[in-house]
Amino acid sequence: MSDIVIRQTAHAGRITLARPEALNAMTYEMCLQIEAALDRWARDERIALVVLDAEGDKAFCAGGDIAQLYETGMAGDYAFGQRFWADEYRLNAKIFNYPKPVISFLQGFTMGGGVGLGCHGTHRIVGESSRIAMPECGIGLIPDVGGTLILALAPGRVGEYLGTTGYRMGPADALFAGFADHFIPQDAWPGLIAQLEDGASVDIIKHAAQDPDASALADLQPEIERHFAGEGLSDILTTLQTDDSDFAKDTLKLLHRNSPLAMACTVEVLHRLRGPTLSMAKALDHEYRFTYRAMQHGDLLEGIRAAIIDKDRTPKWQYADMRVPAIAVSKMLMPLGKNALTLEDVAMTKTNVGFIGLGNMGAPMAANLAKAGLHVIGYDTAGTTAEGVTQAQSAIEAAQGADIVLSMLPNGAILRDVASTVLPVMKPGALFLDCSTVDVDSARAVAQAARDASVQFVDAPVSGGVGGAAAGTLTFMAGGSAEAFETARPLFDIMGQKAVHCGAPGAGQAAKICNNMILGATMIATCEAFALADKLGLDRQKMFDVVSTSSGYSWSMNAYCPAPGVGPQSPADNDYTPGFAAELMLKDLGLSQQAAEAVDADTPMGARALALYRAFVEEEDGRGKDFSAMLPRFTQRSRTE
Ligand code: NAD
Repeated sequence: MSDIVIRQTAHAGRITLARPEALNAMTYEMCLQIEAALDRWARDERIALVVLDAEGDKAFCAGGDIAQLYETGMAGDYAFGQRFWADEYRLNAKIFNYPKPVISFLQGFTMGGGVGLGCHGTHRIVGESSRIAMPECGIGLIPDVGGTLILALAPGRVGEYLGTTGYRMGPADALFAGFADHFIPQDAWPGLIAQLEDGASVDIIKHAAQDPDASALADLQPEIERHFAGEGLSDILTTLQTDDSDFAKDTLKLLHRNSPLAMACTVEVLHRLRGPTLSMAKALDHEYRFTYRAMQHGDLLEGIRAAIIDKDRTPKWQYADMRVPAIAVSKMLMPLGKNALTLEDVAMTKTNVGFIGLGNMGAPMAANLAKAGLHVIGYDTAGTTAEGVTQAQSAIEAAQGADIVLSMLPNGAILRDVASTVLPVMKPGALFLDCSTVDVDSARAVAQAARDASVQFVDAPVSGGVGGAAAGTLTFMAGGSAEAFETARPLFDIMGQKAVHCGAPGAGQAAKICNNMILGATMIATCEAFALADKLGLDRQKMFDVVSTSSGYSWSMNAYCPAPGVGPQSPADNDYTPGFAAELMLKDLGLSQQAAEAVDADTPMGARALALYRAFVEEEDGRGKDFSAMLPRFTQRSRTE
């Protein structure tokens, strides 16, 4: 079962954490999936808002998956954690800066990484069971995931108190401290979510909100101010130790469980953040200074060991006497220089893309890259261009100085020709990303030529058609080295919803021609079935209603119905203007049969589909029409065999 459910209605994107047995603790994979969905929806004009919720009663999200961190850290691999935090913090910043409302429903525990997900949106909703906390000092970390921003903005010194003690806030406390916006009884949540998914405005949230019971935390504030106003952890401890109030005793008990180094650094970070330059980027930058060093120089591995590995709850902290020297704090919070956190999207916007082939597919793909902030310069022999794309006068002009050259061309011969023109002018180490559908041999030949030119290469043909290209929901099937695939990944995330790394160069094309052999055959089967239905006097709409929900369903029927006026909008509704041209399908079927011959695979349906499309394009009137125009072809004919 998946750990996360991501789906969308006509108006809303919805992300549901679905790991209730692990209190919805967030894994690295979940983090990347959430980011990809948010990127997609940010560009999708149909999506007005995003709902974030979670399965189970116990927790929205109890934190990050620290077991994963422990394993790698104990093996001496600190890079995994550093990468995880950098990616997680980028996601936290993305939620905070998101251009559309993000509404989170925070039942049960929302802690650590859960705060990073659930407490940076525009509408943070708590209910009766909500318990929110930043308990990181208990495992030797400082509050992170952008939590220090909220703590620095909390009233008075409440941030220092919450950050060092890990105090669990109830719903009213969370509103008081700035971790939540609205209290709404939990039995009203499902109805509210359904309305939001149906297109209701976020104003319904305000109207459903109620006043929670009084905040216990607010009652504690006078004592918090008295004890937490000092310069550092030692001042806080000194005043607490000279007070015999219950508050002082309880607070000392909480502080004595936690890592002294982490607590001292938490206080220092909050002091540095408060002031006119406070921002999410600054908060995350300071948090990352600590987390980057936390395994090697901090108490994190010992903290995780005591909490969840040996479960003895007696961690051996550094500075166990609570005397943390100022130099130790400074060392943990020194700037990281070239390793400093970059919120990578910012880096992506500096990427130069040379886009070659701005046809039916290429133009909307290039426009999506430009919309995401990348600098795109495009070239097409037909002189076409795309929104937001600078027009080049030649392929060489588009490729010179590009970090990534992306091609979307009609066939392998043209790809080879373009590659021989652009590879000599590309920067060493740059990426040539070909998304055309071509023969496996051409993909491999261009991969070799790229290697010779010290350029990375990925063949990544796509599925999803012009609709997917425009909506940024393509599927990419990629061949190339793991490193080159990772270089291409941010572009896949912008232009598509999924990218599968299929293997070595050429593997993407192999997957594509197998997929399209199925597509060609099912489109023919769908068209001939409609023609038969016509002759049997069956209404086309009824035929669609039955088949689209029965065992005859397929992408050709359900998403790209060849009958005009039936099913979702498709080229059939536009007089079969392509879409996906019949000659491109002919090309793909030719590639599948060429490949099948080379490896001696028996593909009779593919061979028959090729023969039919060849006749349609070369002998009949199929050229220039969409490949679904097989339907009028069949309806005009009588039985021939
Ligand atoms: P298209 O014919 O609309 O676009 C190809 C573009 O390449 C044209 O604008 C053409 O002028 C340009 N071109 C040709 N030679 C060139 C050169 N030497 N330099 C620069 N530009 C050149 O085709 P499309 O539908 O956009 O498809 C492009 C690729 O994507 C094909 O390989 C196709 O098989 C594949 N594909 C298409 C679809 C679809 O639904 N259309 C779906 C998946 C994959």
